[in-house]
Amino acid sequence: MMSEKPWLAQYPPEIPATLEIEGIPVQEYLIRTARDFPDKTAIHFMGKEMSYRQLYESANKVAAYLQSLGIEKGDRVAIMLPNMPAGVISYFGVLIAGGIVVQTNPLYTERELEYQMKDSGAKAIIAFDLLYPRVSKIKGKTNLEHIIVTAIKDFLPFPKNLIYPFIQKKQNGIVVNVKHEGSNHLLTEILKQPQKRLTVHEFDFNEDLALLQYTGGTTGFPKGVMITHKNLVSNAAMCVAWLYKSKPGQEIVLGVLPFFHVYGMTTVMILSVLQAQKMVLIPKFDVDTILKTIEKQRPTLFPGAPTMYIGLLNHPDLMKYDLSSINACISGSAPLPVEVQQKFEELTGGSLVEGYGLTEASPVTHSNFLWDKKPVAGSIGVPYPSTDAKILSLETGEALPQGEIGELAVCGPQVMRGYWNRPEETEEVLKDGWLLTGDVGYMDEEGYFYIVDRKKDMIIAGGFNIYPREVEEILYEHPAVMEAAVAGIPDAYRGETVKAYIVLKEGHNVTEEELNEFARKHLAAYKVPRYYEFRKELPKTAVGKILRRSLVEEEKAKQNMD
Ligand code: AMP
Repeated sequence: MMSEKPWLAQYPPEIPATLEIEGIPVQEYLIRTARDFPDKTAIHFMGKEMSYRQLYESANKVAAYLQSLGIEKGDRVAIMLPNMPAGVISYFGVLIAGGIVVQTNPLYTERELEYQMKDSGAKAIIAFDLLYPRVSKIKGKTNLEHIIVTAIKDFLPFPKNLIYPFIQKKQNGIVVNVKHEGSNHLLTEILKQPQKRLTVHEFDFNEDLALLQYTGGTTGFPKGVMITHKNLVSNAAMCVAWLYKSKPGQEIVLGVLPFFHVYGMTTVMILSVLQAQKMVLIPKFDVDTILKTIEKQRPTLFPGAPTMYIGLLNHPDLMKYDLSSINACISGSAPLPVEVQQKFEELTGGSLVEGYGLTEASPVTHSNFLWDKKPVAGSIGVPYPSTDAKILSLETGEALPQGEIGELAVCGPQVMRGYWNRPEETEEVLKDGWLLTGDVGYMDEEGYFYIVDRKKDMIIAGGFNIYPREVEEILYEHPAVMEAAVAGIPDAYRGETVKAYIVLKEGHNVTEEELNEFARKHLAAYKVPRYYEFRKELPKTAVGKILRRSLVEEEKAKQNMD
């Protein structure tokens, strides 16, 4: 008889099966770290550093200011910033004030932003100055009462802060002179003021929300995921337990995953604050900047997405850089091709392993082990401490035995409270404390899990089920392929048919026929793409996940036009 949680037998002795989590809200961890490690660098940003004491003091000033604007316990405050010190300060400022952070993607269009502000009922927003025109346009149509703005230059060392507006102007074509906007509040001004009186609120660790994190979830329609203090603290503590060889205050974490997505927020920002680690913030994914930053700042931890590692590995000058500081990387958000993992490990000498998670679980639930055990190729790893997982039949919803394919369900203290104001959608995915992930996979006899695909990405062509991921894995094995995405496009005869979108490596060439020949060798005929399209790049989310859905939408739009 197989053990109920076979993965626990794989755990190294350093990782406990369950974690004792101290029930204090997220911001208390900053208070604690600022007390125990006041002079330790919290943030490095484009040449300027900020200690934990400075971070804490700044967050307090923002908190007092928000309270003076009328922000009360439970009010929503949006943050629309790239990774920069203002983002971290604001995040903790909102929490200290008693508010709930609404994470907003700086790339949102006016329409998307308006929807999110209305849905969340945010009272204030802290935004990047370049986004001010967009934010101010929708203000009157929402509950927004206050817009606080800040610029990248405000956090740069002299003389970079003087030159930066010109660089920005060159890059973006606009300069927003926030000082003349009158109705705004400027973050820099707030930070210059002496500390004002602050009301300290009581928090219910288990129930109070820290965050509304918008995601398409399984239906694709944006919903606010309600993430509690307990969810966030538990998930960050699990990440800390997984990194059992690292010690407080000794790591440098590369912050390239955006903090407005829960993945970067938990695995870089909250984890760093819990452990007094230094975060090196990068506002935009750019391979050149990342390589230079790694060489200069020598980060040891680099949580990322597969497309980030692929991007680095394919940079023409890769060999010129010293990447040997990298010690541990967990890749999440999409499948990590085995080839990419091996090459990256050879190059850095560090460990790169695949993990898995979703916004509704704050986000991490599974990972391969970083040390002492070989990661299992193609697997997302095993459940984190205090986390349970099972596979449910797609037809009956019953738990399936090991080896059988079904929907992955997870359970643990990191699982959300539900979707904001959407009890029906919540009921669909939360059943008796179990979160139905919408991902299809199986567990092997040692307790390692594998994602075959996402329920809704499965292609049904002529009655055959095809999982895009399997086809992509094969295409990635071709030496000329840098990125591959496979999607089901409408087909009059087969219902759907398989199309591959390919980005080639620089200096490589391959024809459609050659690629097709290669795919035919490795895949059953019904899985071989019928169509290929070569592109310079593929549409991606902010964390670098390839957007299959938008490829399908494009295709549908094209077909409707014909
Ligand atoms: P998000 O809520 O934006 O973080 O997206 C979560 C989704 O990303 C999951 O439900 C999966 O479909 C996908 N995902 C995350 N990690 C992996 C992985 N290692 N392999 C395959 N899919 C993944």
